[in-house]
Amino acid sequence: MTFEIPFQNSYVQLPERFYTRQTAMPVRAPRLIRFNRELAAELGISDAPDADLARIFSGNEVPEGATPLAQVYAGHQFGGFSPQLGDGRALLLGEVINRNGHRRDIQLKGSGPTPYSRMGDGRAWLGPVLREYVVSEAMHALGLPTTRALAASLTGEPVYREAGGLPGAVLTRVAASHLRVGTFQYFAARRDIEGLRALYDYTVARHYPHVENPAHLLAEVIRGQARLVAGWLSVGFIHGVMNTDNTAISGETIDYGPCAFMDTYHPQTVFSSIDTRGRYAYDNQAHVIVWNMAQLATTLVPLMPDQDEAITDFTALVHAMPDQIEVEWRRAFGRKIGIAKPNAQDAEMVADLLARMTEGHADFTNTFRGLLDGTARDQFLDREMFDTWEPAWRARIAREEDPEHVMRTANPAFIPRNHRIEQMIEAAVADDYARFERLLQVLAHPYEDQPEAADLKRPPTAAEVVENTFCGT
Ligand code: AMP
Ligand code: MG
Repeated sequence: MTFEIPFQNSYVQLPERFYTRQTAMPVRAPRLIRFNRELAAELGISDAPDADLARIFSGNEVPEGATPLAQVYAGHQFGGFSPQLGDGRALLLGEVINRNGHRRDIQLKGSGPTPYSRMGDGRAWLGPVLREYVVSEAMHALGLPTTRALAASLTGEPVYREAGGLPGAVLTRVAASHLRVGTFQYFAARRDIEGLRALYDYTVARHYPHVENPAHLLAEVIRGQARLVAGWLSVGFIHGVMNTDNTAISGETIDYGPCAFMDTYHPQTVFSSIDTRGRYAYDNQAHVIVWNMAQLATTLVPLMPDQDEAITDFTALVHAMPDQIEVEWRRAFGRKIGIAKPNAQDAEMVADLLARMTEGHADFTNTFRGLLDGTARDQFLDREMFDTWEPAWRARIAREEDPEHVMRTANPAFIPRNHRIEQMIEAAVADDYARFERLLQVLAHPYEDQPEAADLKRPPTAAEVVENTFCGT
């Protein structure tokens, strides 16, 4: 077979306590659902017949040059600290250097148990695999940093969940890295300063080569996360499980579980069935990320020569983050109403619109996109709520150079709506992948009108509403 993944593995060179070497547990009947050929080409990965790809991306065959391993990490889950987590159902196959010279991880998710599986079976079922595939690719097309989906395969084996036996599947994902806040927490919690130092050096070399000290690294990660979370807010995304083990040092969106895009706007929206207290509600995300960065800051203190000084400096960096998020938020939402360089007054205009949208039960995506074609008002229960906001806004954007272009590139027409994902999963379980393929095709161009896909713009009917999204296990 001529299939080739040009691996250049670096994580395996780290000390052995960073991971466990482990191969995937073979599955009965691997079958390829999809291979992302465009992404594969970017990564220098060759094409192959489906049957060969299925063997590799289900874990049945270890591709040449791979050094499969499960990474260890820790993390705060819903605020409680777990000193040891790790890849419980995932394996890092290795890394490749992409077309732009950037290192990328290739990881199998759902590939069987590892020493970090705890009570889990190490498997994934088809639903969460397809959800992550569609939502991560949509996030990328929306222009936000994210892990990508390279392949999805069926295992031919059932996975047992609350709902009973479900088709097992494996997702192959690509990430700038899988380094997490929780990876730093793992070594810090064990007071393994040598390990922490090795992790710091690895992180700097891989992601932030210009960084000169841990304070500088912290500032860079804070900057990336402030931008990321403001980006999520601007497209109505709710991650669902912003635990520190699901917060990437690279600034990418990672670990799509019970995530969802909001339909009707409400700042307190929660989708995850396990987030009973709304810790990770839509508008809490901007607060939680600051808390998560404080946890990262704590792990970096032991690397500093003067720890008291470090605590003072790091505290200042973390305390400055809400203002950074505010700046990013204003830029992102200003663009949504057609203002390229919004000032504080413009931000108030946005806040006023959002307050009216809450009260008017307006669809988040369609209201903003509707500013382009006059359909925004139709999204409000009481159209007057929009009509009394509109004149001042019109007067304001009359002073802008090209507000239409700004809005068209800031307000997607298409988001992966939760009810469409659920319908897609239901069809896939019945072996019909047409909805999956169509979602991918339409969501690859979220800012284009695509009139033939108008049905995918429609918010759910009362019967279609998905109240809860169950955890991605
Ligand atoms: P998550 O909430 O999906 O980020 O997962 C939290 C932790 O649980 C991670 O360490 C996962 O590897 C682990 N985990 C989740 N699902 C499973 C599973 N089915 N089998 C083994 N480990 C799992
Ligand atoms: Mg996770």
